[in-house]
Amino acid sequence: MLDSYQRKINYARFSITDLCNLRCLYCMPEEGVTKQNCGDILRIEDFITIARVLVAMGVDKIRLTGGEPLVRKGLLALVEELGSWPELKDLSLTTNGLLLPRLGEDLKKAGLKRVNISLDTLDPEKYKYITRFGDLAKVLDGIDTALSLFAKVKLNTVLIKGFNDNEIESFVDLTRRLPVDVRFIELMPFKGQSQFAFGTYLSGDEVLRRCPELKPLEADDPSAPASLYAYEGALGRVGIIRPMSCKFCEHCNRIRISADGRLLTCLHACEEVNLRPYLQDQEALRQIITEAVAKKPQEHHLMEGQLQERDMGKIGG
Ligand code: SAM
Ligand code: SF4
Repeated sequence: MLDSYQRKINYARFSITDLCNLRCLYCMPEEGVTKQNCGDILRIEDFITIARVLVAMGVDKIRLTGGEPLVRKGLLALVEELGSWPELKDLSLTTNGLLLPRLGEDLKKAGLKRVNISLDTLDPEKYKYITRFGDLAKVLDGIDTALSLFAKVKLNTVLIKGFNDNEIESFVDLTRRLPVDVRFIELMPFKGQSQFAFGTYLSGDEVLRRCPELKPLEADDPSAPASLYAYEGALGRVGIIRPMSCKFCEHCNRIRISADGRLLTCLHACEEVNLRPYLQDQEALRQIITEAVAKKPQEHHLMEGQLQERDMGKIGG
């Protein structure tokens, strides 16, 4: 499926829940999100229906995210179904890692191909601060589990000025001894948590300033947002994702489905289409998705102050 700028849209991210077992300062309010009625959140069957239509339209890559996808009941059934579709070349998941020791093996058996784990600091006290109460040891166990199960493991590290700039070298060093890609992500402001984001933004260039021996690598996928680098002889790579200082909208291939059934064609645009009324009719669903994709914005306007009303946890990062 092509949008009106001839971009091929083949990647869908499903936020399968907006609930989370952490409360990262830049992502969610302290009290968490208000629990919605069961009827307001897509059922696992609804995600499968939407996925079936999207795959028929050319989507061959799905990422499950949230909120925290591992707290969603029915996750294994969803992975098992999607994992059995040969048209789906990639089925992955983004998680804070806390529940991976418990669920990782079953997820792998169900057909999950790879995971991204979010980790912004290697210091237990700072981890507790940024997540409001998280236990670093549990995430580290989750990373060990992922490394033992999956061929590809990526760590997502949001760059936060005055918080983890002094840990950049330590994160990059992990790639010397572990087969992980560490991806540094520039902090983006969302309306709800924008106060935190404005004072703490740090450009991705800081990584190269601190680690000048990193050598640039060819991108393995032109639509992937990360610029890739590596130390010579390292087991893993370093990615820098710069949505703020260098937007990558020109090659954007993605759409998002929120837990409450909204289709968002841009992470930072407030326009959304409610898919729920069309769930019983796959042709109508196809039609409404085609129309929405045709209106996918050319680019985001974050730097001009146009902020998304939903927090990242409500869209699916
Ligand atoms: N709970 C899972 C996790 O933390 O990996 C999945 C959902 S979380 C919203 C997905 C990713 O979005 C995480 O890597 C998180 O750090 C990132 N994220 C959340 N808010 C962000 C923001 N304001 N700017 C940049 N990245 C953000
Ligand atoms: Fe939860 Fe992930 Fe948001 Fe942190 S970044 S509050 S773990 S959804």
